[in-house]
Amino acid sequence: MPENSSYKTVTLSSLVNHVPVTIAPDTPLPEVLAIMENSRISCLLTVDGHDRPIGIFTEQDVVRLLASPTLEQSPPQTMADVMHQPVFALAAATDYRDAYREMMARRFRHLAVVNEEGKLLGVVSEGDFMHHMGFEYLVELKTVASAMTLAPLTLDVTDTLSSAARLMAEKRISCVLITQDGEPVGLVTERDMVRFSRMGKTQWRRPLAEVMSGPLQTVTPDMPLQQAAKHMEASQVRRLGVVEAGRLIGLITRHDVVKALQGRYIEYLHETIQRHHHEVQQAKAEVGLLNQKLKAYKLMDHVSDAVLVVLASTGMVVEVNASACRLLGYEHTSLLQVQLDTLLRPNRPSRGWAGLSQSVQSQGRGTFHLDLITREGRVVPCQVDIHQVNEDGADHLVLVARDLSDLMAQGEQLRLQIQALNALDHAVVITDTQTAVVWANAAFTRLTGYELAEAVGRKPAELVKSGLQDKSFYERIWSTILAGQVWRGELINRRKDGQLYDEEMAITPIYSGTGGVITNFIAVKQDITERKALEAQLRQLSITDPLTGVENRRGFMVQLERLHARQRRHGHGLSVLMFDLDWFKHVNDQYGHAVGDEVLKHVTQLVGQRLRRSDHLGRLGGEEFAVLLPDTHLEGASATADMLCQSVAKYPAMTVAGPVQVTVSVGVAEVDLYDPNPEDALVRADQALYEAKAQGRNRVAVASPQTPASRLEP
Ligand code: GH3
Ligand code: MG
Ligand code: MG
Repeated sequence: MPENSSYKTVTLSSLVNHVPVTIAPDTPLPEVLAIMENSRISCLLTVDGHDRPIGIFTEQDVVRLLASPTLEQSPPQTMADVMHQPVFALAAATDYRDAYREMMARRFRHLAVVNEEGKLLGVVSEGDFMHHMGFEYLVELKTVASAMTLAPLTLDVTDTLSSAARLMAEKRISCVLITQDGEPVGLVTERDMVRFSRMGKTQWRRPLAEVMSGPLQTVTPDMPLQQAAKHMEASQVRRLGVVEAGRLIGLITRHDVVKALQGRYIEYLHETIQRHHHEVQQAKAEVGLLNQKLKAYKLMDHVSDAVLVVLASTGMVVEVNASACRLLGYEHTSLLQVQLDTLLRPNRPSRGWAGLSQSVQSQGRGTFHLDLITREGRVVPCQVDIHQVNEDGADHLVLVARDLSDLMAQGEQLRLQIQALNALDHAVVITDTQTAVVWANAAFTRLTGYELAEAVGRKPAELVKSGLQDKSFYERIWSTILAGQVWRGELINRRKDGQLYDEEMAITPIYSGTGGVITNFIAVKQDITERKALEAQLRQLSITDPLTGVENRRGFMVQLERLHARQRRHGHGLSVLMFDLDWFKHVNDQYGHAVGDEVLKHVTQLVGQRLRRSDHLGRLGGEEFAVLLPDTHLEGASATADMLCQSVAKYPAMTVAGPVQVTVSVGVAEVDLYDPNPEDALVRADQALYEAKAQGRNRVAVASPQTPASRLEP
């Protein structure tokens, strides 16, 4: 069979060679059978108003009808009662071989051919297929024996016509051979059944000898099939008996011949399909592989990593991407002629191509830090991922190299920056947004006593919180930094060893690279314990008289203000004394300034010892002092003043120059509710002191209480 013929499209339309015979559905059954017999056609059709086939009635159906057990009780009347619905129909454009396969699969012997609108164009039977396929296909099929049906069903000449109909319907065969003493003498076919069905009931009991057609035309099993088929066509029969040595051994029908043709065709088609399928698969695979390669190489050129494909057996570079050429300073073609070892710095002998190949063998992959050498001899530190792949039946190493030069430079930079941070006196802590420590510098460890490893992952609040700041303090910090602002402030924290320390801190929120969200906080802390102490000391000094150790004027005034405010709130009494040493110039003149100082200290001590803890003694300047007496009204104050005055007079100062006797004059005043300024009372006490001096010294003078009226006096 010529190879191309199988691909020549032969459609059903070329097999349709006669106009189908159609009848109305109400055609009476006897008429239907008459038409069938007279026109020697094997089927009739019924169409609808649009010429679409709606029913078919074939010779096969006649046989089935005759064998039906209900035939006698309810005999069918019209075409509509007996026709097959729906009609097996195929479009005229269907390939005839596909059509034949379909027909065989459904065990039909006819198929209706329709156009695109479903309109009936014709009917194709098995014979049409045989005719079309042509006898030349049978050249290879040797003999009748290869296609015949062995041991065909037979009945004896004495059997009845109805038993023949039953057998044919039951076995779905188109004829029964009739024998007499084992010799084939005739046959009964479907077509005969059509004829008998018209003769009436009485026919069915007749012996086959009377109704069979004969004689049966016979052929020998060794006759070429081609010849047998031609014989059938010439004599217009559809079946031949196969006889050997006078005995019937088989039957060959037109159906067998077509089946043989079809079988051969199917076989051929199958082979062809298989071959083509294989070819298509192969082509597809090749195209796929090519595409894959093209894609891979195209992709490879877009990756920033250098990619080198090396033949595992030799270490020869067989493929590279653009990045590899750039990194190593080679042209694409010249890099392809290089052995991998040329590109590797031989600092570690085991890491040559052979060593690498061996290293990745077990896992199929590996990652290495290798120094690659450029064409100019420059060393490029790289991280190299190596995969072993098998392509085209050979092992290859695919090296994906990432230039670490920049990374290493950045690493070096980072190392320096870390060193700088560690050199700082300030503690630097980087936290995440939950304030868990991510990193801290050396000063942090010095400040808190916590090593970096201990601190990482923990919150500074857990580590160093002293509890000396309240919740609102921390809430203020949070609201500041979450608003994106830097928080600055001082707080008291607790070291790992439990010691408290003062800390000055600035917390800066750090934003992500894109600026959207806060990713970290950086806290810069400084231990200010010493500074705080110094400040306190300075503050103390600024309010203390260095000679006597009591408050100086500033300190005294601060206390006066404080107690004055308190007195205004609670209405408790507050009095003030002012005293001045009498004739102190003479002491200096007589004993010298140093002894004068000793006397000043003595008086301070003496007075201080006689005051309550809540009282305040201050040196306002020179040898002039003042005392604040809280919760004390004028009377109590003047009593205290008397007591102090007498004590000073009674106890001389024991100096290097011997005992020195001094006296003081005291002025007393009570801070009044009407005093808008606390100094007002001090002024009044000073006036009283002046009076005491004027009255002869070593005495107490009391200022009269302030009245609303006296306040109005100029
Ligand atoms: P009066 O009774 O009127 O107060 O007489 P007085 O001599 O005390 O006179 P005045 O208060 O005017 O003199 C104060 C003297 O106190 C003058 C000064 O030399 C002396 N003086 C002031 N401050 C100091 C000091 O710190 N040390 C010594 N040794 N003398 C001081
Ligand atoms: Mg004096
Ligand atoms: Mg004085």
